[in-house]
Amino acid sequence: MMDLVIPDKVHDESRQGEALVLEPVKGKNNGRKLYIESYGCAMNFSDSEIVASILLDKGFETTSDFTVADVIFINTCSIRENAEQRVRNRLKEFTVAKVKNRGLVVGVLGCMAERLKSKFLEEEKLVDVVVGPDAYRDLPNLIDQVDDGQKAVNVLLSREETYADISPVRLNSNGINAFVSIMRGCDNMCSFCVVPFTRGRERSRDPHSIVKECTDLFNQGYREVTLLGQNVDSYKWKSGMESPKSEVSNEERQQNALTVGEDIAEVSEDLSKVEVNFANLLEMVALVDPQLRVRFSTSHPKDITDEVLYTIKKHDNICKYIHLPVQSGNSRVLELMNRTYDRDWYINRVDAIRRIIPECAISTDVITGFCSETEEEHQDTLSMMDYVQYDFAYMFMYSERPGTLAAKRYADDIPDLVKHNRLKEIVARQQEHSFIRLQKLVGTTQKVLIEGFSKKSDQDYCGRSDQNAMVVFPVTENYKPGQYANVFIERSTTATMIGRVVPQTP
Ligand code: SAM
Ligand code: SF4
Repeated sequence: MMDLVIPDKVHDESRQGEALVLEPVKGKNNGRKLYIESYGCAMNFSDSEIVASILLDKGFETTSDFTVADVIFINTCSIRENAEQRVRNRLKEFTVAKVKNRGLVVGVLGCMAERLKSKFLEEEKLVDVVVGPDAYRDLPNLIDQVDDGQKAVNVLLSREETYADISPVRLNSNGINAFVSIMRGCDNMCSFCVVPFTRGRERSRDPHSIVKECTDLFNQGYREVTLLGQNVDSYKWKSGMESPKSEVSNEERQQNALTVGEDIAEVSEDLSKVEVNFANLLEMVALVDPQLRVRFSTSHPKDITDEVLYTIKKHDNICKYIHLPVQSGNSRVLELMNRTYDRDWYINRVDAIRRIIPECAISTDVITGFCSETEEEHQDTLSMMDYVQYDFAYMFMYSERPGTLAAKRYADDIPDLVKHNRLKEIVARQQEHSFIRLQKLVGTTQKVLIEGFSKKSDQDYCGRSDQNAMVVFPVTENYKPGQYANVFIERSTTATMIGRVVPQTP
């Protein structure tokens, strides 16, 4: 099975399997080394930072070399079959380490752990611990159980857990962009998708802890946060919903509520009435500092509101970029997928984006060869792509996942070759559109947040425009990573714009 992806930061192919390395917490060394690597979406990478934070607090040190580790954790993804196969292959490679170190603990975390539960222990003899996404606080106990000679499993899903009080540690990031989880789980039941089964019910994190985390990041020098959730538009928090473990004081809560804007401020005297939706949260984070860029992912077409669009328009530091997965351009297929919108609804939302924020970039996810999809219906997806002219896309062949509604109700009846050919057509069309979209920016000046040296040369910087396009330009005196530069775009490829710094306008 093959996935073709035009990458951006939310699901970055180059980060798959990346190991997390952190500095030890002073005075807490227990002499054991943790190796943790992550697969899948940004949410998983963000979760690994929470796991590392919990274990560093127990005195673990991290290592980037699994052969010297005492505990190996692999944070897994179940979204498509090939994601799971990748993890199983990787587990085989850990056998060598287990032979050398009999006390080594090998654990599987995340979605695959949740999907397979204790079956994992039978299928993969190497594995000692299986831990679902809501049970990471229990990791120190589970490791103790394994030290005592038992196998350990905790795959309980929670209706409350948001890890709001745990500050994720992020020392191997570039110190400029950070992911911030604003909610967990998903209450949608897209028929192809395993996420509602592996990540449980949707719950929103206390907005005050989110604002506090973003403020702390800004004070540490970070200049961009991406707010993460499976469906950010259904973010909803009411006063009184906060986790009992939240460390945000009532004074901070009141202070933050007062910055949300007039509507919220009016009711903030009586905090029991405060309700924060996604538009309010975006505004709260945008107000942390005008120099902090705010991104978010993922928006669901059924839920994205004009209120959110007007909030994006109102704040210069909320990036003009929306990831709006379409999945298919055909209404019958969308109904089978249980996406709860049809082609016309999706077009209406795209039109609203173009009307309210004309400069906004839009990206998407597409699945080819879903159950019973005809050639004509596939053409509808291509015509939707022509209509929207997406800036980026993640494009996948349908992969049947055990236990999902589609697996129970519909036959996975499109031959692999047909799925593959449809995918090829979609990828080719997207490449044309990406090129056209970038070409339109040639001759304009873009505000770029410098992220570091370009992959190809330390004579060039790279960074992203507000609309999330990669920009490469020669290193210029007085500019450093973490600063903004105005870059005049001289030319573009299908994925990158190339330019030079021009003076800041006063
Ligand atoms: N919550 C997001 C949404 O609703 O768009 C998407 C989350 S999912 C982790 C990311 C993408 O994986 C989906 O948008 C979909 O395109 C793709 N995906 C999910 N299940 C799939 C499956 N069974 N086969 C192929 N692609 C799948
Ligand atoms: Fe999966 Fe649909 Fe939830 Fe996205 S919205 S995570 S595709 S069930």
